[in-house]
Amino acid sequence: MAILEILHYPHPILKKKTQLIQKIDPAIRQLIQDMAETMYAAPGVGLAAPQVGQPLRLAVLDVTPANQPKNLVVLINPEIVVTEGECLWEEGCLSVPDYCEEVKRKKKVIVRCQNLEGEKVEVVGDNNLLSIALQHEIDHLDGILFIDRLSKLKRDVFKKRLQKESKEGKKF
Ligand SMILES: [Zn+2]
Repeated sequence: MAILEILHYPHPILKKKTQLIQKIDPAIRQLIQDMAETMYAAPGVGLAAPQVGQPLRLAVLDVTPANQPKNLVVLINPEIVVTEGECLWEEGCLSVPDYCEEVKRKKKVIVRCQNLEGEKVEVVGDNNLLSIALQHEIDHLDGILFIDRLSKLKRDVFKKRLQKESKEGKKF
């Protein structure tokens, strides 16, 4: 097991669409273990493969509260097949440090994916953190960050703040 480096915005790999996993081989299993360890250490509720530099259609998540037993969900080749309703949810991202904002999301999603055994499974998130995490992670696999889903006004504020920080950063 190893803690992997988490890439930050605006790293170009975060913008790339990912490739389907053809075979769940030992290297993929190792990557999943390392991603889970990296996510728990961060700590975060989800982590997608592009965030650790792997352009693969793979993500891990665990939305159980910290004081309860872990429940790792592994999403291999996930696709959202059903959506229902809309909601607003405040999100952050391990690849966009120190920034949170409300994002418009679907209330309910049904995701079809494969589990570690390669079997087809469905994961349902309905008006809860799981629903939002599923949408956020699958966005990562399509090269979309939550800041891409903000209104233009909010996105401009974010980018201005980022520029300001990098300008200030050069003084040191
Ligand atoms: Zn994220």
